[in-house]
Amino acid sequence: MAGGRPCWQCRNCIRGRPNECLQLQIMGSFYDGAWAEYVAVPYGTLTAIPDQLPFEQAAILADAVATPYAGLVDRAALRPGEAVGLWGIGGLGVHAVQIARMVGAAPIIAVDPNLGARARALAVGADHALDPGAAAVDDEVLRRTDGQGLDLAVDLVGANAVLAEAASCLGRSGRLLMIGLSLDPIQLGPGVVFGLASQSLLGHLGYAKRHLDELVELVSHGRLDVTGSISDTMPLEDVGRGVRQLATKEGNPIRLVVTP
Ligand SMILES: [Zn+2]
Repeated sequence: MAGGRPCWQCRNCIRGRPNECLQLQIMGSFYDGAWAEYVAVPYGTLTAIPDQLPFEQAAILADAVATPYAGLVDRAALRPGEAVGLWGIGGLGVHAVQIARMVGAAPIIAVDPNLGARARALAVGADHALDPGAAAVDDEVLRRTDGQGLDLAVDLVGANAVLAEAASCLGRSGRLLMIGLSLDPIQLGPGVVFGLASQSLLGHLGYAKRHLDELVELVSHGRLDVTGSISDTMPLEDVGRGVRQLATKEGNPIRLVVTP
């Protein structure tokens, strides 16, 4: 199911566009519903799980896969043959690499200071994995895109330094997509570069239910393999241990699935 519910009271909800609710309520923050054996949810938020799709795989599609999917495919309209750079190969970034691969982006360039994260990016389909501490990332990106720069650069971290580095790698008409969020003021260097090259900055949050429906089809028909993202499954009584493991990054987990 989608992790939020529309308010049914705002202007967009009243106009019949609950997907664009102005006061979307998120489960776990605005109302109870996580980490329980049963939960009552609005019928319209449910997505059926086909028999051939294991529960554990369906469970991680919301947010961890659906957010980068909606961002890359819809918000940034990534097309086959476009050069894409992805900054931050954590729980969202690893799926962003897979989605870029599925869409047919080329080349796919992952950027992450962590060696394990770079290895993960290469394992799931990145063409190159760059260490931002080792060399000037903008030079490396130009070298790997025949001097053209990126069509799409994605900040999955949420830090202005990362966003600015991603912006410096954009080519003509390049789009800069913010999936990671931060309170930093946005500063991207000389505006004349941004303007002359007709570049765009795109904010992004979450996904709509139709993205989840599409992902269920893609995963259950073998177009996208998320089995490697399920680091562990655990019963409900062990959820505290799982939260600690995520907080300390012990064993570098991507997603932990609770089976109540
Ligand atoms: Zn609303």
